[in-house]
Amino acid sequence: MLVNGAVITGKGASKGRTAEEIDQIRAVLRGRFDDLSAEYEEALAENHALRLAEMGDSAGDDQADSGSKTAERDAASSLLRTLSDRRTQAEHAMQRLEDGTYGNCEGCSNPIPWERLEIFPSATTCVHCKSNRERRAG
Ligand SMILES: [Zn+2]
Repeated sequence: MLVNGAVITGKGASKGRTAEEIDQIRAVLRGRFDDLSAEYEEALAENHALRLAEMGDSAGDDQADSGSKTAERDAASSLLRTLSDRRTQAEHAMQRLEDGTYGNCEGCSNPIPWERLEIFPSATTCVHCKSNRERRAG
C-alpha cells in the first residue's frame, strides 16, 4: 500500500524570482493593501461614530460606564494603528518589489526564505533580524 495521499507540488527552493512570481506577489500585495485600506476606512468611521456617541451621552455616566467606553476607544485606536502599520508595510513591500530589492532582508540583506514570503508577503526582514529587532525594541 502506498501512502501518498498528500502530494507535495511545487516544492523545491526556488532561487531568484521569475516574472510570474513577481506578478503574483504584486497582486497579493495590492489586494492586501486594498483590503487594509478598506478596513482602515471602516475602523476610522466606527471610531468617529464612537466618539460622537460618547459626546452625545457623556452626561450622567457612572464610573463603570465610562470605564468600558475608554476600553472600547482604546481598542478602536489600537486597531487603527495596527491597520495603518500593516498598510504601510504592504506599501513598503510593493515599493521594494519595484526597486528590485524585494525578498532580501533589510537587516542582513540575505534572501528571505520563499516560505516566509508566501505566508507574510509584506515581510522585509528574515526571521532572525525580525527577532533581533524585537529584542532591541523590547
Ligand atoms: Zn536578516
